[in-house]
Amino acid sequence: MDKKMKLAVIGKPIGHSKSPEIHQHFANQFDAKIEFRKDEVTSETLATWLADFFKDGGKGVSITLPLKEAALNYVDEISDRARLASACNVIYAKDEKLFADCTDGFGLVKDIEENLKVSLKDKKILILGAGGAARGIIPSIIEKDPASLKIANRTESKALLLKEDLEGKVDLKGKSLIVEAGGLTDDFLLADSYDLVINSTAVSTQAGKSLGLPKALFKGINFTYDLFYSAEKTLFMQESLENGVEKVSDGWGMLVEQGAESFRLWTNLIPDTSRLLEKPID
Ligand code: NAP
Repeated sequence: MDKKMKLAVIGKPIGHSKSPEIHQHFANQFDAKIEFRKDEVTSETLATWLADFFKDGGKGVSITLPLKEAALNYVDEISDRARLASACNVIYAKDEKLFADCTDGFGLVKDIEENLKVSLKDKKILILGAGGAARGIIPSIIEKDPASLKIANRTESKALLLKEDLEGKVDLKGKSLIVEAGGLTDDFLLADSYDLVINSTAVSTQAGKSLGLPKALFKGINFTYDLFYSAEKTLFMQESLENGVEKVSDGWGMLVEQGAESFRLWTNLIPDTSRLLEKPID
């Protein structure tokens, strides 16, 4: 790559995004020259921003909140992963066309199965939350053939809608997979037991706020994963450990792995994620 490849991350808020540092780290591995912008963009300014960026030779964009669904309206092709998620977290230009993809599920599954060495196959999985992140990760989890999947969300109707959407897009019967959806209530949560719990709610972004999960929920659970990442253990991770869960993780590894997959889509290069996984960027 002689000329600098133009890349960016967009969303609102955007100040906290580590994408420029992560992608610079990947680019350095190949001596690739990149220019990575971090721009605040809203649903109102998205169309113009994308048109200007790609007209100006832009190659790829990371899409974050609140644009992941809206961005699908401005591309020529949508990948199966993004279609299943009804959302995208990456756009790239290729052969005069714009493509949208969703690498969040790939990132989560890679982090859990390869980095953390926890297999999802035949596991009873509870997913807390039914927002954009849950939509992004569930199709990739289903591909790994878990025994069961339960989606519990504070607003029950959103969990039910997500389940309905999934049933319309994935052959769950062919996979012999029962998906259940319900509210974040003790009755619904405690009606089953689980091997692992994934917190995809945004509760960890709210300082000091707990999901108030019943202690009995953690009985027999080996592993919990919080999609949110921070220097300190999240409250959800702390509560898991206090209630006997042996292994917990935050979503830093997912962020790095989804970024690596986006970088591959932009450059055709597969970066080594090992150093970033060890040591988060400050
Ligand atoms: P979102 O679309 O806004 O959805 C938020 C979800 O959290 C909804 O299910 C919402 O429930 C629930 N929620 C929010 N506050 C809650 C509370 N106090 N108690 C219970 N439930 C609550 O957000 P998102 O895009 O799904 O993101 C969710 C989390 O995933 C964030 O922490 C984000 O940082 C993280 N994330 C991480 C990565 C990564 O690479 N590591 C990637 C994507 C997202 P209602 O439906 O009832 O409002």
